Amino acid sequence: MSEPVLADLTTLRVGGAASRLLTATTTDDLVAHALDAFDDHEWLVLGGGSNLLVADQGFDGTVVLVRTTGVDAERDADGVTVRVAAGEPWDPFVATTVANGWTGLEALSGIPGTVGASPVQNIGAYGVELADVLTRVEFLDAATGERAWVPAAELALGYRTSTLKHGRRGVVLTVEFRLGFAGEQGVPVRYAQLAGSLGVDLGALVPPSTVRDEVLRLRGSKGMVLDGDDHDTWSAGSFFTNPIVSPAFAETLPTDAPRWPAGDDVKLSAAWLIEHAGVHRGYAVPGSRAAISSKHTLALTNRGGATAAQVAELARFVQVTVLNRFGVSLVPEPVVVGDLLG
Ligand SMILES: Cc1cc2nc3c(=O)[nH]c(=O)nc-3n(C[C@H](O)[C@H](O)[C@H](O)COP(=O)(O)OP(=O)(O)OC[C@H]3O[C@@H](n4cnc5c(N)ncnc54)[C@H](O)[C@@H]3O)c2cc1C
Repeated sequence: MSEPVLADLTTLRVGGAASRLLTATTTDDLVAHALDAFDDHEWLVLGGGSNLLVADQGFDGTVVLVRTTGVDAERDADGVTVRVAAGEPWDPFVATTVANGWTGLEALSGIPGTVGASPVQNIGAYGVELADVLTRVEFLDAATGERAWVPAAELALGYRTSTLKHGRRGVVLTVEFRLGFAGEQGVPVRYAQLAGSLGVDLGALVPPSTVRDEVLRLRGSKGMVLDGDDHDTWSAGSFFTNPIVSPAFAETLPTDAPRWPAGDDVKLSAAWLIEHAGVHRGYAVPGSRAAISSKHTLALTNRGGATAAQVAELARFVQVTVLNRFGVSLVPEPVVVGDLLG
């Protein structure tokens, strides 16, 4: 049997072979495969591969592919508690919640990947993040081999981060959400660009299906909904997080650089910094098949036939250019497998 190639299992479509691939279609299988994988010298849990940059050398270890299914909902007077198997694809699950009139996830429509990966970087978009509705995860801890429910409060969920992304190793088996009901009023629009395109005020109430439709439309226009025919979507989404800097440092930047409060600090726009450092949409290092998306400055894309090394070269070029121009270090958002970005 030939070795499984990770380029076939990631949305950037780069990455070499894994030594071994175990596919789990039930939660019991997932536990068994994960416990087996934990004994290997290297292991990786793989969902939709939409937040991964895997080296061309591949992965010398066991990959556990999460393809478990199942959605279980309990309604009460105030809302609905939903428990979802880790392998359920994210967006079809969101579509189900919207169709059922359950609220809270509609602004997260169109994000690729699996439900099990959603807490890993506390996915977010259009003014909403997973932490707003996540109650707990069922987790198989690699350190102890134990399976237990872990409350969201223990995951240190933050802007594109959690303990699961940074050090707490194991497998999310099930994710539990607490959602509301739409009722007559609808849900508040929490993002200025979304409000603008809907033609309503920020905070206005609209039906969840309206939010979902508009988010999908906006995301589609930016290449942020997967489409095999469109190379602008052969990406890992936003490749860099928005930098968070001190107010004193923010003062040193041009006055027209967008900025938002982030606790006591200031969040900057990575896209603005990249563009104003002179790296524009569509840019590719000469001879490379990796390029900035033609629709979104933050997405590094595979134009067909790119290598992971080319994606990493482009990432480093962007980082160095922004560092030299503005003194800001851009931090990659995807999980990097292999020695690529130093
Ligand atoms: C076009 C595009 C648009 C995107 N837009 C957004 C966006 O708007 N907002 C946003 O936040 N993200 C966005 N992303 C990033 C990505 O879709 C999310 O991070 C998503 O949650 C990743 O899910 P996945 O199943 O593909 O994870 P993978 O890429 O398979 O894995 C990502 C990480 O999570 C770990 N992991 C996966 N499953 C599990 C599990 N069950 N248990 C433990 N660890 C696990 C992996 O080991 C890896 O470290 C986008 C990506 C693309 C390609």
